[in-house]
Amino acid sequence: MKSARILAPNEPLAVSESETPKPQGTQVLVKVSSVGVCHSDLHLWEGGYDLGDGQFMKVTDRGVKYPVTPGHEIVGTVEEIGDGVSGIAKGDQVLVFPWIGCGECPACKVGNENLCDTPKSLGVFQDGGYSDYALIPDSKYLAKLDGVDKDAATSLACSGLTAYTAIKKANQNSPEFIVIVGAGGLGLMGVQIAKAITSAKIICVDLDDKKLDTAKGMGADFTVNSKDPETAQKIMSICNDKGADSVVDFVNAPPTAKLDFAILRKRGNLVLVGLFGGSIELSLVTIPLKSITIQGAYTGNYTDMVELLDLARKGTINPVISKRYSLDEANTALEDLKARKIIGRAVINP
Ligand code: NAD
Ligand code: ZN
Repeated sequence: MKSARILAPNEPLAVSESETPKPQGTQVLVKVSSVGVCHSDLHLWEGGYDLGDGQFMKVTDRGVKYPVTPGHEIVGTVEEIGDGVSGIAKGDQVLVFPWIGCGECPACKVGNENLCDTPKSLGVFQDGGYSDYALIPDSKYLAKLDGVDKDAATSLACSGLTAYTAIKKANQNSPEFIVIVGAGGLGLMGVQIAKAITSAKIICVDLDDKKLDTAKGMGADFTVNSKDPETAQKIMSICNDKGADSVVDFVNAPPTAKLDFAILRKRGNLVLVGLFGGSIELSLVTIPLKSITIQGAYTGNYTDMVELLDLARKGTINPVISKRYSLDEANTALEDLKARKIIGRAVINP
């Protein structure tokens, strides 16, 4: 099989051939038709996350081993199954749930493998889908597409799923106004999902007018370009000078986090999702005085992914796929994402 692999951080991905694995037991071999290019692949390529103050969290300290094949938004056709597989057959078109856990820890036991203490996620801790074949450890991580477009379905495994988890958390205080920060792959899904499952007015923030126009087309009621020094005041005035009930930050870097706190109203709910990173200083006393809730959201569980597939099948959500690359163009795909050239999601069709 042919794979585009990260050999070491910040080095170009190398396309190489290796023996196509033969599935054993519960394993399934999927012929990859489409794999989403996520900003998290960029963090993996860069070797980790910015902690602020010149500090860096290396992914190798979190258990990543290079070389690794990235790609966690995998869609394909079942090519071969192990002898312990049931419910899935050769030829089925499937979306892969990549957030695989140990199966033993408290999170895994209640079905939240995405929050496992010792994650084994595909495309991060084990080889993923920047490849013409992907070996999936168990058929229980597959969901049949049943009519959903292959390229569109990729984003339901991460960008859609993460946005779904985050918007559900943002909806806990029945918001009148939700602010969505970042109109990238995740944020645009966030806008659509917020439109579908909340009754809030949606305010979308980004640095790029083209992305904001797309967000408007997806259902954002208001958009604000945060290059504008009056961004916070503009949002406050949209929210009747009280502030936003919920803010979902799909960037989560110092400038956006500072904005989040500036626009959050009393009893407000802040959901941090992005991994751009860095650090900020917090005025501690405002958190109890305003009774603010701050929570993180990390990907989502298998059940939510299946629910999302259903929303996509009904046409309630329509993932934006704006660019397609071959496996040989994997480096260009990542460079284009880094240069903010992608609207919504790009996919690789191996
Ligand atoms: P993306 O590159 O598609 O989109 C990022 C968007 O943020 C772009 O539209 C960009 O213009 C905008 N942006 C960047 N800096 C900004 C700023 N200062 N102010 C306003 N807008 C700004 O990325 P993505 O794939 O949507 O991922 C977003 C982040 O979420 C990444 O850090 C990614 O690793 C992370 N992520 C988190 C999870 C999770 O489970 N928590 C899952 C997947 C991805
Ligand atoms: Zn992702």
